[in-house]
Amino acid sequence: MNDLAIPPLKKRAGLLESALLKMFTRRARVLDIEDIGDAFRIVTLGGEALRDAGWTPGDKIQVQLGGWTRRTYTPMGWDAVGGRTRILVYLHAGGPGARWAGALRPGDDCVVFGPRRSVRLLQPVRPQSTVIVVGDETSLGLAAALADQMAAPAVLGLFEVWRAADAAPVIERLQMQGAALCPRLENDGHVAGMEARLADLLRAHPEADVVLTGRAGAIQRMGKLLKRENLAAGRRQSKAYWAPGKTGLD
Ligand SMILES: Cc1cc2nc3c(=O)[nH]c(=O)nc-3n(C[C@H](O)[C@H](O)[C@H](O)COP(=O)(O)OP(=O)(O)OC[C@H]3O[C@@H](n4cnc5c(N)ncnc54)[C@H](O)[C@@H]3O)c2cc1C
Repeated sequence: MNDLAIPPLKKRAGLLESALLKMFTRRARVLDIEDIGDAFRIVTLGGEALRDAGWTPGDKIQVQLGGWTRRTYTPMGWDAVGGRTRILVYLHAGGPGARWAGALRPGDDCVVFGPRRSVRLLQPVRPQSTVIVVGDETSLGLAAALADQMAAPAVLGLFEVWRAADAAPVIERLQMQGAALCPRLENDGHVAGMEARLADLLRAHPEADVVLTGRAGAIQRMGKLLKRENLAAGRRQSKAYWAPGKTGLD
């Protein structure tokens, strides 16, 4: 056998890796950054490779941050004709994702995987449906994406937040009239209040679908409440976006 014809195993693995990366990744450029206070940024990404992407509200993208490090974000919308998408990034105290987003400038390049399925409402979504999104700062982009496909104010939200003063301008900017902010308290002291508010919302909107995202611990508590309230499995979805002490939870 001519061993020159077949690259050595390590090289073949490298070739396979770059072929896979090419198949599943899209190159994008930062077109615009809108800061909403110090804690949130709306990042608009664009480029030829973002055209013709099949995107459904609730889908995710993963941004490659070097090597195998990736962090996940939720497009608020996707213009598949113009080749553009927007994400809302929460700049929490820090990890590679928050640092990446905080340092971005228009004209920077990045590589994204996706869009890929993450949270998906039962199709077809009726324009009159109500969706209750329970989450936190990281869920606001998802709520905006879901609101876009329905007649406002069909998306109602309950969001636990570190600082209401940081999140309130986002709610205003995204015109999410149905959103309520629940400031976090020590030892999850605020979660009982969120449970009570969610139970009230379910009574007021018995047809609503419920989507739980954000911090894993809060999702667990809310998920138990939905079971106690006998919400049909097809009408509830949950996806943990992060958990204290864990990195890149996806
Ligand atoms: C499907 C999916 C969609 C997501 N969509 C969005 C989105 O649209 N916008 C957005 O901002 N985020 C979104 N996230 C959450 C985001 O990917 C995580 O917050 C991620 O951990 C951030 O990466 P990092 O490198 O900054 O921190 P990591 O390196 O992952 O974590 C470092 C430390 O920070 C903590 N940490 C991580 N996130 C938070 C937080 N939000 N608040 C406080 N502490 C935190 C971790 O527990 C860890 O201790 C999404 C996650 C998933 C899985």
